[in-house]
Amino acid sequence: MAAGFRMTSLRMASVIVLLLAAACAPRSQQPVAPPAPPLPHGGALLLWPNRDAIQSACLNDLQATGAQFELIAQAEPGKDGCTLQNGVKLMRTGLTLNRPVELTCPMALRLVQFEQEVLLPEAQKLFGQSLAQLNHAGGFTCKAMTGNGKRISEHGHGRAIDIWGFTLANGGRISVTDHFRARGREGTYLRDVNRAACRYFSVVLGPNADAAHAKHFHWDISQWKRCGA
Ligand SMILES: [Zn+2]
Repeated sequence: MAAGFRMTSLRMASVIVLLLAAACAPRSQQPVAPPAPPLPHGGALLLWPNRDAIQSACLNDLQATGAQFELIAQAEPGKDGCTLQNGVKLMRTGLTLNRPVELTCPMALRLVQFEQEVLLPEAQKLFGQSLAQLNHAGGFTCKAMTGNGKRISEHGHGRAIDIWGFTLANGGRISVTDHFRARGREGTYLRDVNRAACRYFSVVLGPNADAAHAKHFHWDISQWKRCGA
């Protein structure tokens, strides 16, 4: 018993000495964490192995775009029927957002692809500069469809976003309300990108669709198809 006690005491003493030595060591001698390994091509790094394969692939693809986001825990269906499955809170696409937006991962990924392939090149073509910010009025929100009080909007499942405008790199504002029907580059830009949105999203609405969309574009990836650009 005595020998065992001494060994334990010695071991504890050693640990204390080691801890003190570590605490007193000058900062330059402390081990430096190695740099993070580079991402493999195609964003194939499996970062979320516990999620189902489709969701993991989507998250990896979304991360590979450089978007910044947080995962949203699987939400229980609300009594109103709204659900958000495979949701992410998108903090930044390639652009600043006027505020974070909650979407399903596939919808967030589609938005970022549309931004890269249409919104940015079109801005470069028409204005000779990039965009700085995407201005939206909501993604996942529990509400009924416009004009149909019973069916839940795609917003109620995080598969839709409402966009009211863009901010150019030089600070210039482009808004659906002010410019959609205007002559000039801003109007051309808005009409062109909303038409192109029909190739990326299922339902595209805007001022040409109905009065409810006079001030914003609605883009979603629902099972329905309508190009109301
Ligand atoms: Zn909408």
